[in-house]
Amino acid sequence: MDPYRRNGDQLSRTQALAAPRAASPVVSPAGRPDRLVAGYIFDLDGTIYLGEELLPGARRLIDALISLDRKILFLSNNPTSSPEDYAAKLTRLGVPATREQVLNSVDTMTSWLVGHHPNATVFPISEAPLKRALATAGIRMSDDPTEIDIVIASYDRGFDYRKLQIAFDAICTFGPARLVTTNPDRFCPLPGGRGEPDAAAVIGAIEGCTGVRCEQNTGKPDPFMLEAALERLGLTAANCIMVGDRLMTDIRMAIDAGMPSALVLTGETTPDILQAHQPDDYPTWVLNRVDEVLPESIWSERDWTGTGS
Ligand SMILES: [Mg+2]
Repeated sequence: MDPYRRNGDQLSRTQALAAPRAASPVVSPAGRPDRLVAGYIFDLDGTIYLGEELLPGARRLIDALISLDRKILFLSNNPTSSPEDYAAKLTRLGVPATREQVLNSVDTMTSWLVGHHPNATVFPISEAPLKRALATAGIRMSDDPTEIDIVIASYDRGFDYRKLQIAFDAICTFGPARLVTTNPDRFCPLPGGRGEPDAAAVIGAIEGCTGVRCEQNTGKPDPFMLEAALERLGLTAANCIMVGDRLMTDIRMAIDAGMPSALVLTGETTPDILQAHQPDDYPTWVLNRVDEVLPESIWSERDWTGTGS
């Protein structure tokens, strides 16, 4: 399956959680939400920070949402750190966050396996945080291709030919093992306009040599991740706004659930990239900076200008 495509069965489950789909979104670079909502779900890389730097407006936005008693969840596809690590990083950068306010694809892959394949033996092509979470959850891991049921393609900066051979053997020689992924991102944005190959590179390598397709994604834009986020918040999609920098993950997930969405132009998506997409991919709002997700009335009350941090 194309990892960007949604799984039909799971979509119907999320639609059951969501309110009826809102009217077609209208793209207006100057537009922004005109009211507060109960919950705010933020992507991290390219939305709240880039590398080790908070993006403009992130600190005062989170401070304001806390003082306004709104629910906040940070939602990341990036499985190279644990939710505890992300909470510590956010707090260190000046955005106070608890472990419960962070949900990433380490959490969702672990809960998907516990819920759907608790007795499977998996081969995680991943970094340490996912392996630690799987071990804690009691999921059996192995690099012996004769006993692997599920190959997990993830964002792994230690990916090499040995791991590819194990995946190949598990799927083609001794299998068929199933191929799943933590997240379908092609690259992770880095400061200075650079990027780093992400899980899509590992998915592509395995799909290329085996001919199988990745059959499950537990990150954005899959409804599985949104369901986990809404369950964590205790809210419905209609009462939240999804804020992110990527059209095909953050915004696509929200559109499919009938959820209001705000695209920030501080990460992957430039105005030119946005214009190259079809209106079906458009978010509800396009923001130049993340604090524009608050309505004008809040800016006026707090005497904010467009240059604060
Ligand atoms: Mg991002």
